[in-house]
Parts: sequence; C-alpha cells; structure tokens
Amino acid sequence: VTVPSAVAESDALRTLHRVFGYDAFRGEQEAIIEHVVAGGDSVVLMPTGGGKSLCYQIPALVRSGTGVVISPLIALMQDQVDALRALGVRAGFINSTQDFDERRVMEAEFLAGELDVLYLAPERLRLEGTLDLLSRAKISVFAIDEAHCVAQWGHDFRPDYLALSLLGERWPDVPRIALTATATHATHREITERLGMPDAKHFVASFDRPNIQYRIVPKAEPKKQLLAFLKEEHAGDAGIVYCLSRNSVEKTAEFLCKNGIEAVPYHAGLDGGTRARHQSRFLREEGLVVCATIAFGMGIDKPDVRFVAHLDLPKSVEGYYQETGRAGRDGLPSTAWMAYGLQDVVQQRKMIQGSEGDEAFRRRAASHLDSMLALCETAQCRRAQLLTYFGQDAARESCGNCDTCLAPPETWDGTVAAQKVLSTIVRLQRERGQKFGAGQIIDILLGKKTAKVIQFDHDQLSVFGIGEELAEAEWRGVVRQLLAQGLLAVEGEYGTLVLTEESGTVLGREREVRLRKEPKRPAAAKSAKGE
Ligand code: ADP
Ligand code: ZN
Repeated sequence: VTVPSAVAESDALRTLHRVFGYDAFRGEQEAIIEHVVAGGDSVVLMPTGGGKSLCYQIPALVRSGTGVVISPLIALMQDQVDALRALGVRAGFINSTQDFDERRVMEAEFLAGELDVLYLAPERLRLEGTLDLLSRAKISVFAIDEAHCVAQWGHDFRPDYLALSLLGERWPDVPRIALTATATHATHREITERLGMPDAKHFVASFDRPNIQYRIVPKAEPKKQLLAFLKEEHAGDAGIVYCLSRNSVEKTAEFLCKNGIEAVPYHAGLDGGTRARHQSRFLREEGLVVCATIAFGMGIDKPDVRFVAHLDLPKSVEGYYQETGRAGRDGLPSTAWMAYGLQDVVQQRKMIQGSEGDEAFRRRAASHLDSMLALCETAQCRRAQLLTYFGQDAARESCGNCDTCLAPPETWDGTVAAQKVLSTIVRLQRERGQKFGAGQIIDILLGKKTAKVIQFDHDQLSVFGIGEELAEAEWRGVVRQLLAQGLLAVEGEYGTLVLTEESGTVLGREREVRLRKEPKRPAAAKSAKGE
C-alpha cells in the first residue's frame, strides 16, 4: 500500500484499528509513527512493554516496500512472525535456525514484494549475500531493535551491530528507527554515533510508572511475610510472585494454597502442557496468583496484575524494572513488593564468583548486582533512584508512593559497628587462619556461647561480646550493607566473609560508614500453616 504522507496519520490510525484491533495509540507511539512514516530517522527509548513493536510495524505496513527488522532475539522471531501472521500481516524471518530451503522460500517472498515485515538477525548483515538480497527489493523502513547492543561497554554488546551504520550509507532514503529499553545517557549517545544517525529525532518515553508503589522489606520469614502482605492488601487480586529456584516456586505455591490463596507454579521444569494451562488460567481467571521463576512473564499482557512480589533479589535493576513493570498496566494502583535480606547478597555474590563466565562477565554481573543492591539499601526515594538509573534524572525529591517516601528510613553512623565486624574477621583470619560466614561472626560479636563458638574457642577472642549494643537482626543489617557497599566480600562455596581493598579505609578510620536503620519488621501472618 502506498499512501501520500499527508494522509499518513489517519492511515496509521486505521492500521492500528483494523490490523491490531486497538483503539488508540499509547504515549509517544503516534508521534514516532508519524515521523517514521514521513521518512525521518528516529531513536526511541521506551520501557519494556511500552509498545515499541507497533512503532515499526505500522510504518512497515503503511509505507510501500518491506520493513526490515534487525533483532538479536532469534529465539523470539518465530513467535513474533506467527503473531503477525495471525493478524494477517505478511511477515517472515531469516536466521540461522532455518535450513536452506526455508530460507530460500523467505527470500523469494521478499524479492517478490510479498512481505510486509522481514526479521533479520544482525550477523546476517555481515554477509554480502544478505546485503545483495536487500538491495534487490524495496525496503520501507529499517528497524534496529535492542539498539543498546551497539554500545561497546553495554551488557550485551554485539560487534555485528557496529556494521549497521552501513545501512544509512547504502540506503540513504530508507528511514531508520533504533529502539531500546535501556536508556542511560551514555547508551543514548553511543546509539546515535555508532549507527550514524546524527539527524535522528529522539523520542524518550518516561520510565515512570506512577501507579506502582515500590516497597522493599527486610526479609525474615519470607513466605509468611508474603502471606501477610497478600491477605492485608491484595486479597482476591491477581499477581505474580517471583522466586529464584524452581524448588522455592513449588514450595511457595503450595504454601499459599494451604493458606487459602489460590496459587499455581510456573517454571521451565514443568512440562509444556502444565505451563500453558497455568498461564492461560492466569490470563483468564480473576485473582489467581502465579509463583514463578523469571521464565514467566515474557510477552504476557494482562492489564490487571495488581502486585508483583519478589521473594528473592533480582540480578539487575533492568530485571527488577521489567518484572515489576508487569503490574498495573491498566494504570490502577498496584504494588511492587520485595523481601530482601543478607542471604540474598551472600547467595548472589557467591553465584557470580562461581559462574562459568569469564572475568569480564563477572565484572558486569557484579556491577549489575551493585546497582540492584544500591536500590535496596537506599534511604532516598526508590522511584527517583530507579529513574536516575535509567538516565531520567527526575527533579522530584520524593514520589510519595514508595516505602522510603511513605516512611523515610533513618540513617546512622555505622563506622564503629563496621569496624567491629571487620576487625573480628581480621582476628580470625590473621591470628588463626580461619574464615567464617556471617552467622558465626555475629555470634562472636554478641558474645553467644554456641556449640560452634565453643568448638573453635571463639569465646577466647578479644572481640568476643564487643557487639552487645545491637540486636542480631541489626548486625545482619550491618553485614548486609557492608556487603552491598563493597566493604566486605564473600568467598567460596560456604560464603565465608573476607575483607576487600576498601575495608582498610574503614579499619584505618579514613572514612565514615553511613548505614540505613533496619525498619521495624511488619508482623508476619501468625496463623500461617505449613511453615
Ligand atoms: P515492547 O516491545 O516495548 O516491550 P510491545 O511492543 O511488545 O512492547 O508491546 C507490549 C504490549 O502492549 C503488547 O501486548 C502490545 O500488543 C500492547 N500494545 C502496544 N501498543 C498498544 C496500543 N496502542 N494499545 C493497546 N495495546 C498496545
Ligand atoms: Zn518515593
């Protein structure tokens, strides 16, 4: 279909109604589509679930020729194409999962002008054959999805993306639209530079989800805390509970069921039939809770998810934002609730150390975790911290709709407490060549004569009992925050505590350690069964 650009806007809207069955554009979609349809380049920053796909699918349908979509997510291409075909859009893909014949069929359709949308993996553009193929048919628009992959320092940098600048050189008349959900200023700049799109118009959607209330509570008895949260605030509501392991997914679903909350498990270890059944129940029924690993949620569009709960710490702020973002798509008040504790930090630091990845991978994983921990430990507004992370320095001091705004946590000078923890570790290591986990260190500080303390003569240490001014939960908070701040590290499969280079500055009194006071623990549900 060729249309003069003067009527393009109504054409875009008509396509939205007729093909996709939606009433209206969301947010910036209309402005973006209008710009692309008119032939302009654009860089689009929009959070996951914001509706990026329509921004290139509609121009691909409205402009004449085939829209070529460069995407690194090969595993999703088949699904995307199937979904478009179900709507009557002539879509196809070319990637390494196809055999020769399948590829030839796609190529023939493309050359015959029978495709509205063609998905391509970026590595294919390094092949002269692909460029040759593209030059033999009419292209309506180039969409570069996951455009942050071009950022060299980014977390999933792909050299293939660097070659994409040639699209502008070889097809100067075809508009390009680069899309990403990762929106730091640096990424933004790199996309523009490396893709060679100096004249592109930038569209930056807000990452703020004002109807979501962000809360992070200290983890004590997570399942009971979850139950209390659900009973008190979300009785009868649909929601998702994320857990790290399949085992805890199962246990949590069972626990909720025993306590009168309808819940089903979802993880990659369940057979396809069960997964599909639980997913469709979640979409169809009202008030079902799904306990899931992060395998659940991709492509799920349920508007009335009232809460997303995390029983374990997500590995990155991106992950946290994406998962919590599944709540409240309908704009109504929703809660993002998370229980977080010392063990989360120990476990994730351990996992990173024991991972198969190379040094660069571990450094990246550690820096992602650090940002996540900073969000957990902040005494400032969670929303402001999130938005700042995504490069949207909101001038807002406080949002009024997150736990730290609703009940600002106090901070205290934890320098002496930190020194006590660190010097206990020094004593054990230097005088005895021993390493222990947080539990033993805290028992020593509290002067507890446990069997293990007696066994190792730890009651003979000069630091034994020097920490009686704080309660056990407070010491756990101190250790957790030292780990989060990089003033302490974990080592080995038992998660023993060791010093870092930074620890010396605390022991040497060269710096102050500011800590967040542990908020009072909300009462857990008293009548919980099965714990
Ligand atoms: P992103 O790629 O930004 O993560 P998607 O393009 O997958 O987001 O869109 C997320 C969901 O929102 C999809 O289910 C999509 O169909 C839906 N959606 C997008 N735009 C609209 C709209 N204007 N009206 C209604 N639903 C929309
Ligand atoms: Zn706030």
